[in-house]
Amino acid sequence: MPDDVLAELKALRAGDLPTHGGRTLAYVYDSGLAGVDELAASAHAMASSANGLDPTAFPSLLRMENDLVAAAIALLGGEVGSVTSGGTESCMLAVLAARDAHPEISAPSVVLPVTAHAAFLKAAHFFGVRVIAVPVDAGFRADPEAMAAAIDETTVLVVASAPSYAHGVVDPIPEIAAVAAARGVRMHVDACIGGWVLPYLKRLGAPVPPFDFRVPGVTSMSVDLHKYAYCPKGVSVLLHANAALRRSQYFASADWPGYTMLNTTLQSTRSGGPLAAAWAVLRHIGDDGYAKLAADVWDAVRAIRAGVGEIDGLRVLGSPDSTLLSIAAAGPDFDLFTVADEMKARGWYVQPQFAHLSSPVNLHLTITAANRGHEKEFLGDFAASVAAARAAGPVVVDENVAAFVAALDPDSLTPDQFAGLLAAAGLGGAAGLPERMAPINALLATAPARLRERLLLEFLGALYTP
Ligand SMILES: *Cc1c(COP(=O)(O)O)cnc(C)c1O
Repeated sequence: MPDDVLAELKALRAGDLPTHGGRTLAYVYDSGLAGVDELAASAHAMASSANGLDPTAFPSLLRMENDLVAAAIALLGGEVGSVTSGGTESCMLAVLAARDAHPEISAPSVVLPVTAHAAFLKAAHFFGVRVIAVPVDAGFRADPEAMAAAIDETTVLVVASAPSYAHGVVDPIPEIAAVAAARGVRMHVDACIGGWVLPYLKRLGAPVPPFDFRVPGVTSMSVDLHKYAYCPKGVSVLLHANAALRRSQYFASADWPGYTMLNTTLQSTRSGGPLAAAWAVLRHIGDDGYAKLAADVWDAVRAIRAGVGEIDGLRVLGSPDSTLLSIAAAGPDFDLFTVADEMKARGWYVQPQFAHLSSPVNLHLTITAANRGHEKEFLGDFAASVAAARAAGPVVVDENVAAFVAALDPDSLTPDQFAGLLAAAGLGGAAGLPERMAPINALLATAPARLRERLLLEFLGALYTP
C-alpha cells in the first residue's frame, strides 16, 4: 500500500511547477548537481522525528545547528546565530530582538528602504513596530542620507538588503551601518537571498560591494540556506555580531505547570529534518562546490542579462549586483503579463512584479546554477514570448471596471461582495486558476495595493477551503 500512496503523491506533484532544470525562475533553487537531492532526503528522514525543542535530549541537532551557524560565520562573520525555518522567520526575529532590547521605547519603529522585503512589514505588523519606509534612489538603492534623517529616538532597527529581492541591488551597507552606529541603533543586513552567493561571486572577481559583518555597525544578518546553499526548504540562519545582541531574541517561560519552555526562535517543537538535510548538503557540496556553483550562476546571469538587453522592447531595471534580474518593458506596445503567460506556455515560470512607487511592472528572474548551459533556450523563448505579446497587443482593462475597482473601499467590503468581485476578476469558484493570468493581473494592477491585498487574501481563503 505505501507504493499506492506514493504513486498518488507523485501524480499530485506532476501538476506543480518543475523544481529542477532551471525552468522555474522564482521560488526554487536548483544546483543541478546529481545526488544532492537523494542525500538531502536521506538526511531529512534520519532526523525528522527528532525535536530541536530540547537540545539536551537531541544533542545531534545541537551539534548540527552549531555546525551550520559556524559555516555561516565563516562566510559572513558574526559570533553567534540561530537556525530558523526560513528567511521570514529570521527577519522577524531580528525585529523582535531589536524591539525587546528597548522595553523603554513605548512606540518602537524600524527604518527601512521601500525596497526591503515584505517580511519586515510582517514583523512590524506582528510585533507592533512602526515602519518608517524611506524612498530609494533612481537605481532602487537605499539612500543613506534619507535613512539617517528618518532615524529618531524611537528607532530600534535599521534594515538594508544585500541584495533586494525585487531588483537584485545591494544597498550601500557601509554608509547605512555608519549612520545607524552613530545613533547607537542596531543594523540588520537582509542577505537572505545573497548571503550564500555574494561571497563566492566576490572571490571570482565580481564587483560585490561590502555587505557583511566586516562592515562596522552591522549587528545582525539573515541568510537562507534554502536559497543559494541549495538546501531543501525550511532552513535559514540569523547571525548576530555578538551573544549580547542575541539575548532578547530568546524566550523562556517557567510560568506554567509543564516543562520550562525555552525557545531560541519563533518555533517551539522544531523538526530536525530540514536542519539535518542542510547539514548534509553543506558538507557534501563544500566550499569548493559552492565556488563552482557560483561561477556557473554568474556565467548564466551575465549571458541572460546581455541577451535580454538585445531583445527589442525589454530592459533590465537598475544595475543588479547579484543573481536576480528584473525585466521591464521599454515601451507600451505590449503587455509584460502576457509575456509571462507566453513563457508559461513555453514551459518557463517568470514572476510578475506589480508596479510600486518608482518601480514599474516587471518580470523577476531568480537565476540559479541550473540555468547554466540553457541560457540560449531561455532567451530564444523570451524573445518569442515578447513577439507573441506584441502581436496580441496590450491588455485593455475596461474603463468602467477599472473605475469601479478604484472606487472600492477594501475595509468596508462584505465577504459576499468580495466573492462577486473575485468572480468578476476571473478568480472565483473552485475551478482553479485560468491558464492565462494576463487579464487578471492587468485588472489587479489597477487596484490600489490595499485592495489587491484584500482581494488576493479572499482568493487564498477560497483556495484553502477543503
Ligand atoms: C526570500 C527572502 C526573504 C524571505 O524568505 P522566506 O524564506 O521566503 O521566508 C527575505 N528577504 C529576502 C531578501 C529574500 O530574498
